[in-house]
Amino acid sequence: MANILIIGAGGVGRVVVHKCVKNRETFKKITLASRSIDKCEQIQSEVGKENLDIAQVDADSVEELVNLIDKIKPDMVLNIALPYQDLTIMEACLQTKVHYLDTANYEHPDSAKFEYKEQWAYNERFKEAGLMALLGSGFDPGVTNVFCAYAQKHYFDEIHTIDILDCNDGDHGYPFATNFNPEINLREVSSNGRYWENGEWIETKPMEIKMVWDYPEIGERDSYLLYHEEMESLVKHINGLKRIRFFMTFGESYLTHMKCLENVGMLGIEEVEHNGCKIVPMQFLATLLPDPASLGKRTKGKTNIGIVATGIKDNKERSIYIYNICNHQETYKETLSQAVSYTTGVPAMIGAKLMMENRWMRHGTLNMEEFDPDPFMEELNKQGLSWNIKEF
Ligand code: NDP
Repeated sequence: MANILIIGAGGVGRVVVHKCVKNRETFKKITLASRSIDKCEQIQSEVGKENLDIAQVDADSVEELVNLIDKIKPDMVLNIALPYQDLTIMEACLQTKVHYLDTANYEHPDSAKFEYKEQWAYNERFKEAGLMALLGSGFDPGVTNVFCAYAQKHYFDEIHTIDILDCNDGDHGYPFATNFNPEINLREVSSNGRYWENGEWIETKPMEIKMVWDYPEIGERDSYLLYHEEMESLVKHINGLKRIRFFMTFGESYLTHMKCLENVGMLGIEEVEHNGCKIVPMQFLATLLPDPASLGKRTKGKTNIGIVATGIKDNKERSIYIYNICNHQETYKETLSQAVSYTTGVPAMIGAKLMMENRWMRHGTLNMEEFDPDPFMEELNKQGLSWNIKEF
């Protein structure tokens, strides 16, 4: 029976709390800490004081984190704050000897690189301390890595190509808003695209490569090639891989808004002087946009995220599609959150559950596809994210 500390009381943090509370047989004591205590209080009021303790912490400060962890004495920390806090939280976990999990790779606030290098550098220290750091336990990264491992284990002798396909067909009724943290989201989609083929990374201009995919229960949607962090670990761990790409759907209106914001400099991440004070345009934009945590109530429609893998089984060519469909209104009914937060928060809880039940436990910094996918796939079906497989 585990004692856990969840850091970050945003859209995803809310789902993690709601789902951990539904799994009290594993999580005996749950504490939520975040920068703004009022957000923790709100979530506490939703699940009941008897189920959740709360605390205030600045997760940019290793010292504050260590003091909090020493006080709570959790078995693990679930980092559901922002990617900027990954390294400080990992450092604090090492100092206090507790396990670690996150949903997004480390990013420096001044430069968006989307790479695991700095977190993988902690591997030896986590190993020596006898601790585990599970990296990227959201949906993508996260479930998409597990889908690839499941395909590799049960369907292929060799996987040759993987396309990860992410469609959010939700409509929140605003002209423009992002479904998770605007700064992180807009940095991701305005960067150059990149995919991996025959051992090399090939760079593309943002939104340069488009295909149309027919998403089950949604229909045909324009899908654009982006770089996405799970590809970096999957190319290391999937046997025989020749190509991996990531596609995300965007509607015309979203792209027009993005282009306009980019053209006027609102997506900049460097400080500019404005009336005697310094502002970062992207951060100012994030202040103006609707809080993703507030979108839940208004969002209708579905998400569909999955992988298409092709390869060889018993000397024959094979193609499969594994995907999950999630309904925004149903997730709101259950957790007061839209499906993008839900599809991230549920896998974070499942990752923690498997770690705390010793079903996924190894020492070092580890990506999701390095574990047996079966228990995770079983939990997805039980915890609200059931999946389907189609063979072509
Ligand atoms: P939000 O912006 O809604 O929430 C982030 C929370 O972290 C806020 O409560 C914020 O506090 C808190 N926080 C930020 N900085 C600090 C700090 N220094 N100390 C303590 N708390 C802090 O983001 P989301 O919930 O949408 O996203 C959470 C994470 O999930 C992000 O890392 C995101 O990249 C990741 N994600 C992963 C996905 C996946 O599939 N793998 C998909 C979607 C998101 P405050 O309220 O004070 O601002």
